[in-house]
Amino acid sequence: MDRCARCEAEVETGEKESTYCEACSQRFEAVRERGVWVRYRTDVAGGVLPPGFYVRSDAYGDRHASNRVDALVTATEIMDRQQVDGVFDCPETDTRWLVDGYLDAHPGVAEAVEAERDSFFSRLSNW
Ligand SMILES: [Zn+2]
Repeated sequence: MDRCARCEAEVETGEKESTYCEACSQRFEAVRERGVWVRYRTDVAGGVLPPGFYVRSDAYGDRHASNRVDALVTATEIMDRQQVDGVFDCPETDTRWLVDGYLDAHPGVAEAVEAERDSFFSRLSNW
């Protein structure tokens, strides 16, 4: 038995690539579909767009961000405005998080995101 990377529930080993239990997988999928999705993309529009973090939402489409903090600033702003949750796919560890959970678990990143949000006018208004 393995354990779900998010809630520690026991999951069958080797059934699928993800190390998340059924409940967590479904929660992530629901948030990803209805809310904000932050992930690292290397091959975007056949190489026309730069690789990097992209923030996808129904309201604002797919937005490129220059780095992780920038991406999470954009994501949290959309989450606040649209009253939705967000999913963050961490490229280094190949793990999936709810944005709020990721920020809770990474206080340094959360601090940088807060500082950015305080020091800049809305990203969304410039789009
Ligand atoms: Zn789980």
